[in-house]
Amino acid sequence: MKNFKTVVLASVLALLANSAMADAAHPKIGFSIDDLRLERWARDRDYFTAAAEQLGAKVYVQSADANEQRQISQIENLISRGVDVIVIVPFNATVLNNVVAEAKKAGVKVLSYDRLILNADIDAYISFDNEKVGEMQASGVLNAQPKGNYFLLGGAPTDNNAKILREGQMKILQPAIDKGDIKIVGQQWVKEWNPTEALSIIENALTANSNKIDGIVASNDATAGGAIQALAAQKLAGKVPISGQDADLAAVKRVIAGTQTMTVYKPLKLLASEAAKLSVQLVRNEKPTYNSQYDNGSKKVDSILLKPTPLTKDNIDVLIDDGFYTKAQIAGK
Ligand code: BGC
Repeated sequence: MKNFKTVVLASVLALLANSAMADAAHPKIGFSIDDLRLERWARDRDYFTAAAEQLGAKVYVQSADANEQRQISQIENLISRGVDVIVIVPFNATVLNNVVAEAKKAGVKVLSYDRLILNADIDAYISFDNEKVGEMQASGVLNAQPKGNYFLLGGAPTDNNAKILREGQMKILQPAIDKGDIKIVGQQWVKEWNPTEALSIIENALTANSNKIDGIVASNDATAGGAIQALAAQKLAGKVPISGQDADLAAVKRVIAGTQTMTVYKPLKLLASEAAKLSVQLVRNEKPTYNSQYDNGSKKVDSILLKPTPLTKDNIDVLIDDGFYTKAQIAGK
């Protein structure tokens, strides 16, 4: 009897080991992206998929198109498809705790990508150092315009990055505010990082301040684009320093033309390939190398934070050297 039990136990163990090994060699990765309609996230998808496939994984991509309910259902579908790990760019950082719990219950690992999922039991977080990005944005505007009236154009209120960026921005701006060099005449979050919303916020801010705005700390290129349209309508484009991030092609052209002061380059290929590596390591129960920890309200999340680079007209060629754009793309009208 004892023998029989041992034999059964041994075969069950062998079976488990086998299926675990099969998963580990060819992990199935779900990639749930807030919104693939945006330039940067389509790049993330392409780089991520390529890197993951190189590691023997298969990737299932879903775009929630900025809809939190859709994102939750898509994550549930990925769980039922039997993926081993789900990589999530959350639309709304605060609504995913239940679906993350479902994933964990099903033995699926969860990696928060670029944006931190709050109050949920995620396994890891990978992003750029967003506080540094915020510091770079504020320094870029402050160097160009050390005095005057400032407007703070924040990111989406549903995105934890928007808050971290603001913390970084304030680190740089607070001393100038305390000295009386600059005055914050207004600040607003831009729903869904929407350029049209940014345009109307800046239109209203210009009207409310009789066009006396001397600097705009914008939190990404998309919203900077909207703000610059509002400035252009008042013949102020190129006169009011304004920041961004992402090195979107349109923004790079504005930096060269002088209507946007700076952008921040985040090498997405590096983020995506590190994330692919990390996802596979999580599935294989290997030990990833983290360089940070982030409290997401429910736990200290092991994190990898990568280095951003500020770009102005002077060092825009970094993008060509790094293969992010060709010379012709940047020069194109
Ligand atoms: C990302 C930015 C992006 C923004 C809008 C943020 O979470 O870090 O790179 O511009 O979302 O998609």
